[in-house]
Amino acid sequence: MNQRLSNVTPFYRPTWTDISTDAFVANLNQIRKLIGPSTQLMAVLKADAYGHGASELVSIAVKNGADAIGVSSLEEGIALRDIGVSAPILILGGIYPLQNFSVAMEYNLTPTVASLEAAHFLEQQATKAKSRVFFHLKIDTGMGRIGVSPSGAKTILEWLPQAGHIQLQGIYSHLASADTDPVFSAQQKKSFEKVVVLARQLGQKNVVAHLANSAAVVANKEFHLDLVRPGLMLYGVPPATLPADVRIHPVLSWQTKLIFLKKVKAGTPISYGGTFRTKRESEIATIPVGYADGLPRLASNRGMILIRGKRCPIVGRVTMDHTMVDVTGVGATVGDTAVLIGEQGVDSLGALDWAGWAETNSYEILCGISKRVPRFLKGAYADR
Ligand SMILES: *Cc1c(COP(=O)(O)O)cnc(C)c1O
Repeated sequence: MNQRLSNVTPFYRPTWTDISTDAFVANLNQIRKLIGPSTQLMAVLKADAYGHGASELVSIAVKNGADAIGVSSLEEGIALRDIGVSAPILILGGIYPLQNFSVAMEYNLTPTVASLEAAHFLEQQATKAKSRVFFHLKIDTGMGRIGVSPSGAKTILEWLPQAGHIQLQGIYSHLASADTDPVFSAQQKKSFEKVVVLARQLGQKNVVAHLANSAAVVANKEFHLDLVRPGLMLYGVPPATLPADVRIHPVLSWQTKLIFLKKVKAGTPISYGGTFRTKRESEIATIPVGYADGLPRLASNRGMILIRGKRCPIVGRVTMDHTMVDVTGVGATVGDTAVLIGEQGVDSLGALDWAGWAETNSYEILCGISKRVPRFLKGAYADR
């Protein structure tokens, strides 16, 4: 089995994640199958590839058909350029202060422009540098985040032909409720497409229009346009209820081991505040993982962990570095592998389960697995 230790060495504490490169590539192929050959695929690797490790996954993404990479910040883009990534990289986040456009130029990172002021500033900097800079224009069609309004876009598009040093390469918007509100999403698409039509009328014939995150990729082919920007789905976490013919596989699994086991009497308080008291004679295991690893404290007295193929409840509060689990009757011993995310026996737990226990979404669970937890790259694409 291929194995690479990505960020923590040496590795003593038995709490780790495995990153399945096979699952990642299968998910990428599934997205390609959905969008067809003529739609471009931008692999969204922001937030360290949703906690999976962007520097490890980026080359696998590019070699397996990603046309471009999306990241959040200049820092994330620079980290990829520094390891030799030459694919187009779009900075999805707002660049501030505007002086930082020069950093995007220096590293050949494609900036997002979200205001007329930013467009003017980029033109000024590109002129000074005597270079030609490609950028994407972000339209706010209902997300209420960064982005120029459709009417503001018109002003920029009318001015652009006078700008000699910047070139509009892409124009995009972001859906606020792709997973929950098809009517609102259709409205967003409609107002976005008006801007795209206008851009083409005003001379931007080859501009790449894009709108779809993962939920929009699966919701409706009409959202695919010229390019799609999936993140979550690449990591094998369903962005919404998937059509029956769409199959994705979780990329990350999260394991630990029982490091301590004790039998306690009925009525024994467990963890800070004694929020749990055993109702019977119990076997209580301790696992070396806590909220400093990204195990949500809200999962105290709620979450479950797989041990010997059985779901065992977290008892008492999750602490910074340890969590206690009731393993009464499952035949557990110290050293048993416990699965937080992944399969064991016939059962499995996913980021979505933790999201439910922690009253959040699967994104926050994945991004929250802290740097203290080593990532091991596994599978056929791990060492290429
Ligand atoms: C994060 C992000 C995406 C990817 O979203 P998923 O829901 O993870 O697929 C796409 N576009 C933009 C602008 C984003 O910020």
